[in-house]
Amino acid sequence: MAVIYDRVALIGLGLIAGSMSLAMRRDGLAKEVVGYARSAETRATAREIGLVDRVCDSLADAVKDADLVVLAVPVGAMGAVAEEMAPFLKPGATVSDVGSVKGAVIVAVGPHIPEGVDFIPAHPLAGTEHSGPRSGFAELFENRWTILVPGEAGPEAVAKLRALWEGMGANVDEMDADHHDLVLAVTSHTPHLIAYTMVGVADDLRRVTDSEVIKYSAAGFRDFTRIAASDPTMWRDVFLNNKEATLEILGRFTEELFALQRAIRTGDGDHLHAYFTRTRAIRRGIIEAGQDTSAPNFGRVPEKKS
Ligand code: NAP
Repeated sequence: MAVIYDRVALIGLGLIAGSMSLAMRRDGLAKEVVGYARSAETRATAREIGLVDRVCDSLADAVKDADLVVLAVPVGAMGAVAEEMAPFLKPGATVSDVGSVKGAVIVAVGPHIPEGVDFIPAHPLAGTEHSGPRSGFAELFENRWTILVPGEAGPEAVAKLRALWEGMGANVDEMDADHHDLVLAVTSHTPHLIAYTMVGVADDLRRVTDSEVIKYSAAGFRDFTRIAASDPTMWRDVFLNNKEATLEILGRFTEELFALQRAIRTGDGDHLHAYFTRTRAIRRGIIEAGQDTSAPNFGRVPEKKS
C-alpha cells in the first residue's frame, strides 16, 4: 500500500496507539512511526517489543517534524498534552486523536492548535478490555468503523486521514461531535455503565451466596465481567466528558426498565414478549451488518435474501 504520511507521531502508547502502529507498519502507510508515553516504564516496554520505529523521550521530540500527530491518551488528559506539544508542531501538520468522546476533546484540544495546523478529531469504534503497550494488535480496526469529525479542517487533510484509517482496515464515516457523543452514549457508554453496575451488584451478592455467581456464570454475565474489566481511568474520563448524552440515555433506560419491572410485577407477558421480539430483531441487524466479531459471519458481506 502507498505511503500516506512521512512521519506519524503517536502520543500515548497503549492499546489503540500500539494497534495503529502495528497496522501502519504492516501495511507501509507511514515512512516512520514515532511514539511517546509519559512513563519511562511504558517507553522501555515499547522499545523492548519494537512497538514503533522510534520511541522518543520527550513530547517535543516526538511531535516536531511529524506530519500527523495522534493523541491516544485518556480523554481527560488530552487538553494538557495538546497545550504542551503545541509550540513544537510542524506548520502544515495534522493533529488527530482517538478519544471515545468528541465534544469535550474539541473544547479541550481545539484552542491549543496553532494556525496552519489541521485538527481532525477521530474515534475508532474498536477496542478490548486490555490496555497498555503490550495489548495492541494490527487487526484491531479491521471491518470496524472509525468516525471522523472534520470541523473546519481542510479537505485534503481529511482525505489523507481517511485514507490512513481505511488503510488500517477500517470503514470511515464523518459526523459532528454532538451526534457522535449521542450515538456512542447509546451504543457504548451506557452499556458499559450497566455492565459495571451489574458486576458490582453480583459482587455484593457473592458475599451472600458464597461464590455461586462466579461458579454458575453463563455467557451473559461473563460478557458483563469482560466489559467491566475495561480500564478505569479511560471509562471515568468517558463519563465525566460525555455527561449530557449519557445522562439522557440513562434516563430513557431507567424509564424502560421501570416499564419492564411493572410488566413482570403485573404479569404482563404480552408486553415482555413484544419487547423481547423487538430487541431480538436489533441483534439480527447487527449480525447482518457484520459488526459482531463473535458471530459466525463476522467480516463477511451478508448474502442477499432471495
Ligand atoms: P491505554 O492502553 O490505557 O493507554 C493509555 C496511554 O495514555 C498510555 O500510554 C499512558 O501512558 C497514557 N496516559 C495515561 N494517562 C495520561 C496522562 N494523564 N497524561 C499523559 N498520558 C497519559 O489506553 P487506550 O485504550 O489505548 O485508550 C487511549 C484513548 O483511546 C482514550 O482516549 C480512549 O478513550 C480511546 N479509545 C479506547 C478504546 C478502548 O476500547 N480501549 C476504544 C476506542 C478509543 P503511561 O503508560 O505512560 O501511563
